[in-house]
Amino acid sequence: MVSLRYIPAANWVISATTTFTDDRVVPYIERITKKDPHSGQLVTSGPVSIRDSNWLMGLTVSRQPHFAQQKPNELVVWTYGLFSDLPGNYVQKKIADCSGIEICEEFLYHVGVPEDQIEDIARSANTIPAHMPYITSYFMPRQAGDRPLVVPAGSTNLAFIGNFAETKRDTVFTTEFSVRTAMEAVYQLLDVDRGVPEVFDSSFDIRPILSSVYYLNDEKSLLELPLTPPEKIVVQRLLKHVKGTYLEEILKDQKLI
Ligand SMILES: Cc1cc2nc3c(=O)[nH]c(=O)nc-3n(C[C@H](O)[C@H](O)[C@H](O)COP(=O)(O)OP(=O)(O)OC[C@H]3O[C@@H](n4cnc5c(N)ncnc54)[C@H](O)[C@@H]3O)c2cc1C
Repeated sequence: MVSLRYIPAANWVISATTTFTDDRVVPYIERITKKDPHSGQLVTSGPVSIRDSNWLMGLTVSRQPHFAQQKPNELVVWTYGLFSDLPGNYVQKKIADCSGIEICEEFLYHVGVPEDQIEDIARSANTIPAHMPYITSYFMPRQAGDRPLVVPAGSTNLAFIGNFAETKRDTVFTTEFSVRTAMEAVYQLLDVDRGVPEVFDSSFDIRPILSSVYYLNDEKSLLELPLTPPEKIVVQRLLKHVKGTYLEEILKDQKLI
């Protein structure tokens, strides 16, 4: 088994939340995401990697307001760096040695804010970094026996819950994993006659994947997507090809045509 004490130098250890209090950053986010961050819709639909960032920085702008108490002028952005062993492209430091303002500066640089405005915008925002030295430990390779079963064999009053307990088929790094293991523990130990909700078996089922394509693109059908003319031709050909088949039925069911 790999020791939990071992943290590779190039690893994800820093995550940060920035609250911008004015809209100077908005045009730069809009340019990348093609979305108005204040529209109330998902903006980045998950993390976006900045591939030429030394830190392999990522950003996520979720549906705003992100927090119930967030004010209308505030914009909450989540950032992180996956390589913590290299200096940034703008801030000449490793991400783990940076203050919140510096992490925000690196983000502003990568989204294209002119350098003479970076410091001022970063200082007007509130960036809170979080150091998570063991965050990727959820993903460590494991085999049967490394992690305890939710209810160990023979246990009548002790259970393990959360992402480090072992349960069938579930995927770690999810709140669902923690909730499901807690349900499993309570129902089993207290003999509650209720089933734990099934793990959503999406990875090998094309239907939820196509449905995600529809919802992540703001409920647009394939031909409503902002495609280039050659891409549109490919989609039209594909649709012609699947006409009358089960695939056409599935695409219709998932509202893609
Ligand atoms: C940056 C990041 C992004 C994530 N994104 C997602 C996502 O998009 N979707 C998703 O589903 N999941 C996501 N996750 C994973 C998800 O947040 C966790 O799996 C989930 O919160 C775990 O919940 P938990 O209640 O089991 O444990 P935790 O939320 O870790 O709660 C454990 C609690 O126990 C406390 N504690 C620890 N030791 C002691 C002690 N000795 N005494 C008393 N208290 C103690 C801790 O302070 C903590 O409050 C993300 C995690 C991170 C870090």
